[in-house]
Amino acid sequence: MLMGDLRRAIDRNELLLQYQPKLQIATHKVCGSEALVRWQHPQHGMLSPARFIKLAESTGLITPLTYWVLDTALGQRYAWHEEGDERPISVNLSARDLRDPKLLERVRGAFATWGARPDWIEFELTESALMEDPVAALETLLHLKGLDTCLTIDDFGTGYSSLAYLQKLPVDALKIDQSFVMRMQSDDDDSAKIVRSIVELAHNLDLQVVAEGVENQETLDRLARFGCDIAQGFSISRPMSGDQFRDWEAHSTWH
Ligand code: C2E
Ligand code: CA
Ligand code: CA
Repeated sequence: MLMGDLRRAIDRNELLLQYQPKLQIATHKVCGSEALVRWQHPQHGMLSPARFIKLAESTGLITPLTYWVLDTALGQRYAWHEEGDERPISVNLSARDLRDPKLLERVRGAFATWGARPDWIEFELTESALMEDPVAALETLLHLKGLDTCLTIDDFGTGYSSLAYLQKLPVDALKIDQSFVMRMQSDDDDSAKIVRSIVELAHNLDLQVVAEGVENQETLDRLARFGCDIAQGFSISRPMSGDQFRDWEAHSTWH
């Protein structure tokens, strides 16, 4: 049922984006945000991406969905640019997007439409998406990097990439999978060791490191001690609409 609806949903603008702030830990400043899609379904209410992204991937609808997300994120980014806010918005790409022969052309076109600079948008690609076809993924990443955009490996630590492969990837940051970060909160020593090791690995490879799923202050403090660069999670803020983002920033303790 949802499958039939999704095509129309994209055309009828039933999708919406929420933005979750990214916090630069050392300065306590919000340094950007991640765009996360939701579906305001006329019958089923607000649907989370867990309900429809896999479906979209298996039916090929992820392609128009990704284009919609990119265009909408650029529209928001344009509005923020007009307000003098130059912080990047991160957009998630799926495994199938990496195999989309038109991806580059679409990204270039969308950037041109909005008069966007390459640093307006960043892309997140999960480690497991890259590993579905490592050779093709590397090629697509090189093309995206050729546009001068920042690239992050998402859900890092769960996708079985080799260190040799990692070294070849033209990426700027690793985002530690939230399962490790969240288990760190429940006093799991092994998870804390994994998080600390990924921070070190990233820095030794000259990459930035992001921790997601940060749900409390104690974890944020520990991440700071580990030297982690950026944090994202409910303890900073849940994802919110563009307008809410503005209000939240005006009233939050993070600047
Ligand atoms: P992701 O890219 O790893 O996004 C992080 C998810 O963790 C988001 O869930 C976010 O709301 C949630 N999250 C953030 N902080 C916390 C926290 O402190 N605790 C907990 N428990 N969760 C936290 P969301 O928005 O439901 O998205 C789920 C997944 O759906 C995303 O995982 C991503 O893989 C996919 N997704 C979302 N938007 C898009 C999109 O536009 N395109 C594609 N291809 N995938 C998307
Ligand atoms: Ca992501
Ligand atoms: Ca993630």
